Amino acid sequence: MSKRDYYEILGVDRNADEKEIKRAFRKLAMKYHPDRNPGDKEAEQKFKEINEAYEVLSDKEKRAMYDKFGHAGVNGNAQGGFGGGFNGGFSGFGGFEDIFGDIFDMFGGGFSSSRKRNRPQKGRDIKTHVRLTFEEAAFGVDKEIEIYRYEQCKTCGGTGAKPGTSSKTCPKCNGTGEIRFSQRTPFGQFVNVKTCDMCHGEGKVIEKPCTDCNGQGKVRRKRKINVKIPGGVDEGSVITLRGEGEPGVNGGPRGDLYIVVDVIPHQIFKRDGYDVICEIPITFVQAALGDEIIVPTLDGRVKYKIPEGTQSGTVFRLKGKGVQILNGYGRGDQYVKVIVEVPKKLNEKQKQLLRKFAEEMGEDVHEQRKTFFDKVKDVFGI
Ligand SMILES: [Zn+2]
Ligand SMILES: [Zn+2]
Repeated sequence: MSKRDYYEILGVDRNADEKEIKRAFRKLAMKYHPDRNPGDKEAEQKFKEINEAYEVLSDKEKRAMYDKFGHAGVNGNAQGGFGGGFNGGFSGFGGFEDIFGDIFDMFGGGFSSSRKRNRPQKGRDIKTHVRLTFEEAAFGVDKEIEIYRYEQCKTCGGTGAKPGTSSKTCPKCNGTGEIRFSQRTPFGQFVNVKTCDMCHGEGKVIEKPCTDCNGQGKVRRKRKINVKIPGGVDEGSVITLRGEGEPGVNGGPRGDLYIVVDVIPHQIFKRDGYDVICEIPITFVQAALGDEIIVPTLDGRVKYKIPEGTQSGTVFRLKGKGVQILNGYGRGDQYVKVIVEVPKKLNEKQKQLLRKFAEEMGEDVHEQRKTFFDKVKDVFGI
């Protein structure tokens, strides 16, 4: 099944700005939210689609990738087994108040605090870079990358309490996680609810914090992660590893890891999409008489026969010698541009030979040059 265009899903223009995208997303998310359409499979599907589109288009980097490569650019990778796309469920979207949080905040934030308290939350995403050689980007490579991320503290098992102790009910809020207070305003008296500052809404406080994590329940650790980088990635490509980000809160899923590709420039090759481009200098004798030249390719050197009378700037194509197509089959081509080099330091004998050569050729030799000077005569009459 082919995927629908994200812009089409949100019903916005390709050059819509962040605000327009957010507005369109809210409108649609409000309409198709599962809380409003219980049991409606179609609405649920639509809601997932909308979320997915928004997840990409609201992120500058992902949006750029999507604009450049379409779905292939942002949906993780077909390879490597970390399954791309939206991993079922509404990962990252706990519920209504998450999306409409700031609408609720307009009413003083009173609604959300108690509901938010113990709701599972997805962990934060991590972004990192990987440096690849031209060849690694062209054909793909298995890389081990190092990141720093929070892991559950092994000493306390994530509770944050010193082993052998436990947390107790917060004395300030009596375990409710929130504090009520009344506020007098020009419109009358309101009862406001705010998150308890002693337990930060948890309802529990740790008496003796774990010394290894200072009561946080998590510690920052260096982690090595193996990444299968598919062939065909380019500078700025993003590889997504689902669930390799920071741990979630209250049993929520881990965040994702985004790996941005940097490609080290190659001495000979340049890239144009999946095509490889290079320039090769040849002598003017080779150009005039034709010759077999050696052309470097990603697969090693190959021989190429240039014909007699090859002009400087002529481009030859080597089919299938380019970069592997990302998440697809086959490869791009290689384009070789030959540049005729004019010799600079000639000795007297060589100069003599060239003068003789010119004499021998007469004026008729250089067809293009002759026609050019004929034109000059026509125009200026000289
Ligand atoms: Zn601990
Ligand atoms: Zn409290």
